[in-house]
This record gives sequence, C-alpha cells and structure tokens, in this order.
Amino acid sequence: MKCPQCGSTETHVIDTVREASGNIRRRRACKACERRFSTLERVVDVAPLVVKRGGRREPFNRDKILEGLRIACAKRPVPASDIERLADQIEAQVIGLGKPEVSARDVGDITLRGLRGLDEVAYIRYAIVYLNLKDLESVKGEIEKLLGER
Ligand SMILES: [Zn+2]
Repeated sequence: MKCPQCGSTETHVIDTVREASGNIRRRRACKACERRFSTLERVVDVAPLVVKRGGRREPFNRDKILEGLRIACAKRPVPASDIERLADQIEAQVIGLGKPEVSARDVGDITLRGLRGLDEVAYIRYAIVYLNLKDLESVKGEIEKLLGER
C-alpha cells in the first residue's frame, strides 16, 4: 500500500472496519510522513453455499461462525480479538476451498481445527455439540486424542 503523499510503502493500519457489504475499510498511517489515509478492500471471492444435512443450502455466514465460537469460548480467557481473527481465518479457509458449495461438515471440521489451536476447553465444548459426542466415554476419547497430540 503506497502513501498518497510521499509514495512510501511503509504504512501501518490504525483501524479496521468491516462494512455491511463485507468490504473492509482500513485507516492507515504512513510511517515516513505520518499522512493518514483510508483504503477499501472489496470482496471479490464470493463465499460458497453451505450444504446442510438433509440437503438444505444456505450462504456461508461468518457471523454465525463467530456466534458459535463465542459460545464455545464463553468465560474462557480468550480475547475477543482472537475469536474475531479465528472467524476471519475460518472464512478465508472456506472461501479458499474455491468451491461453489461446501458441506456443513467441512465447515465444522475447519472450525474445530481452529478452535483446537485457540483454546482446548472451547474445543471440547464445540466438539461435544458438533461431533455429537453422546456419552462420557466418547468425550474422554476426544480429550485423550487432544492430550496425545501435545
Ligand atoms: Zn507518506
């Protein structure tokens, strides 16, 4: 990103706003001359449709992912900014699959993998619901798998 005043490419981001359209507006400052300016990132990759169990399709929704992450991370020492970042990463990965449609299962797997790196308790909470762990034995199995991978 080039400074409109001095042409320096050394800029830093002061503020990032995601607009309702999905576009991202960033407030930047030039490190060389301190000029402030805004840039706009437009969405060019369109998120795929998510195929639910039973064949129903709905557009991929980052906010829904974020909501699930927040519930999983409730009362855990995870900064809100980390949860936001993970939602962004999950969205980027889902779009990065480059498919017009992805299964809910694929989205869930990507989410699980991300949560595992973020917070183990949140991961287990999410896994219990998402993997439909029905009893203590299967929860224990999942926890042992997690401990084994450390
Ligand atoms: Zn400048």
